[in-house]
Amino acid sequence: MQPVFDGHNDILLRLWLAGDSDGSGFIHGTEDTHIDAIKARTGGLKGGFFAMFTPSRNAAGNILGTDPVAGDDAIAATDAMVAILASISRRRPDILRQCHDAAETRAAMDAGAIAAILHIEGAEAIREDLSNLEAYYGAGLRSIGPVWSRDNVFGCGVPFTFPGSPDQGEGLTGAGADLIRACNALGIMIDLSHLNAAGFRDIARITSRPLIATHSNVHALSPSPRNLTDWQLDAIAESGGLVGVNFAAGFLRDDGRKNPQTSLETILRHLDALVARLGENGVALGSDFDGAVIPAEIGDCSGLPKLIAAMRDAGYGDALIHRICEENWLRQIQLQIG
Ligand code: ZN
Repeated sequence: MQPVFDGHNDILLRLWLAGDSDGSGFIHGTEDTHIDAIKARTGGLKGGFFAMFTPSRNAAGNILGTDPVAGDDAIAATDAMVAILASISRRRPDILRQCHDAAETRAAMDAGAIAAILHIEGAEAIREDLSNLEAYYGAGLRSIGPVWSRDNVFGCGVPFTFPGSPDQGEGLTGAGADLIRACNALGIMIDLSHLNAAGFRDIARITSRPLIATHSNVHALSPSPRNLTDWQLDAIAESGGLVGVNFAAGFLRDDGRKNPQTSLETILRHLDALVARLGENGVALGSDFDGAVIPAEIGDCSGLPKLIAAMRDAGYGDALIHRICEENWLRQIQLQIG
């Protein structure tokens, strides 16, 4: 089975919301999540960036509410999610290992465990003066999306209004620019997914690393502000960066509907467009498992082989499939975090 390293999942959020503080549901299996140890083994999911996302306090059941989040709330939620991943990694390293660099990631995958790298999605947990950034680095943080689809002290996120342009709102703040430089210095990857166009331009100018969008699609095929326009894709390509294709139906479809009856061919059209624009080294997967409505044909991470079979049916060779499913991420992890 082709192993998969995936650019984005929200399983830590699901476990935290369920009050599963030691990740038992992940280890023993759950009914209602896209990822657990059993489904991952079935589907060949062997690694990924594990996001820590803090929902708005006023979300009232809708975790995608875009009200601002207070720093202290984000720190409490983030610390709890750090602890869940650490607990799984400590108790069951045969199932999952928290990884801090490319060598650990490859070693975990070779050992048959899930290689998990910590990511913050929306950096409300980072103090504006960056005073706790190194402590999170010490806890294993290796990737940050400065904003989710809401504004914070670092910059402006894109809203979900469909159709729409990502060119809405201001660029990075001074603190946002400082955050990018500090992440470059520490070896924390910067994720452009959820960032608006002005912030994207600022990061492209400031960062010393290839540009990465862990879970975004092609705006020309699905005109969501969350997707990447031609100039953004060209900027990522010129930097030697990468886009992880997002399985969220709302970011795949040309009508923007969160409809699980969305074909695998729709994902293939985005992959085709990304390969054409970014080359075979610039495309990977960024499922958004446990964070989005995804095509029923995939269902959960046990369905990854169906997507890989669809790539093969579409004429993708073994070498390209290997690049998209794992090697392109592993090379970027080496470049971005060491
Ligand atoms: Zn996201």
